[in-house]
Amino acid sequence: MKKRWRKYYDQLELLMDFSDVGWWIIDYENDSEHFICNDKLCEMFELDPNETHHSIAVSCPIAGEYNHNVKKEDAEAAKKIVNDYHKLLRGENDHYINEFPYRYSDGSVRYFKSRAKVLEWNPGGSVAVMFGIITDVTRQAELHKALDRQKSEFQKLSETDSLTGLMNRRKFTELYEYDCAHARRQSHAIGVFMMDIDSFKSFNDIYGHLAGDDCLVSVATALSEVFQRKSDMVARFGGEEFIAFVPDATSKEMYRLANELVESISNLNIMHRGSADFGRVTLSVGGCIGDMQKSHAYALIKYADRMLYEAKESGRNRYRIA
Ligand code: GH3
Ligand code: MG
Ligand code: MG
Repeated sequence: MKKRWRKYYDQLELLMDFSDVGWWIIDYENDSEHFICNDKLCEMFELDPNETHHSIAVSCPIAGEYNHNVKKEDAEAAKKIVNDYHKLLRGENDHYINEFPYRYSDGSVRYFKSRAKVLEWNPGGSVAVMFGIITDVTRQAELHKALDRQKSEFQKLSETDSLTGLMNRRKFTELYEYDCAHARRQSHAIGVFMMDIDSFKSFNDIYGHLAGDDCLVSVATALSEVFQRKSDMVARFGGEEFIAFVPDATSKEMYRLANELVESISNLNIMHRGSADFGRVTLSVGGCIGDMQKSHAYALIKYADRMLYEAKESGRNRYRIA
């Protein structure tokens, strides 16, 4: 039986060994259980370079025992590689390109790109010789990961109010619109709170802008602690104003929350000489609860704002709910 891989092997050695590419050949006619590869591939996957044939079932980096290795890092990648290989073998594809992470015995991980193609078919239509190359793409993969990390950090920054750490108005609006649409489909009522620190201008005038900033942080923290449910959202709406959204709200729950919001700020006991009536930093709250079948998302915010205005007009440090 002629060794089909031989003619390719010598040519490939000549043509490719100057590059940093690992490559392999499988000669299905003579031995479908083994692959033949260059030294670079041996080096890549800790194979014995003195062996010419390596068992697919045992030491192929993307099959047999080694597949456990890929699976450990990325089960999806491992499954895709095996599927693609079998498709190629069945003639459903004429080549494949895959990427997979590979973990070494010392615990380090490198990333590889693997491509394969059928070099020769038998007259009957089955695969005679398959050829693949594997390149180390760790640098690119790590760059990608760093970029992804950076992207999610930027994303977070763009959604967060830098002073208080609360969600900012832009993010709130985005989630609010989404949740309102959901509430409309589910026929759920939703609740909105608008909150505003009382006499905050005079707090700044008396204690300075930096103390004002500290106060905003304390208030923001206290407010976010009132909202315990994961689905509730509280955000800085701008300046000393905050907004909150309670999906699937009941009016009993809204009254309880409003009361707790006002009390939690008063209980912070932040001295405020400019607040003649209370002597401390206080909060006014306007709330409203609406049936999303009837209410428009922004009409609810407007209502809550009107209720806030009423709370202010009737003396501050209190809530009004519609
Ligand atoms: P009211 O009880 O009617 O709400 O009165 P107020 O003084 O709180 O309202 P006004 O709108 O007159 O003043 C809001 C103040 O909030 C003015 C502004 O300097 C202050 N402020 C807004 N954003 C910040 C901030 O980021 N840091 C600080 N320190 N102050 C801020
Ligand atoms: Mg205000
Ligand atoms: Mg205010």
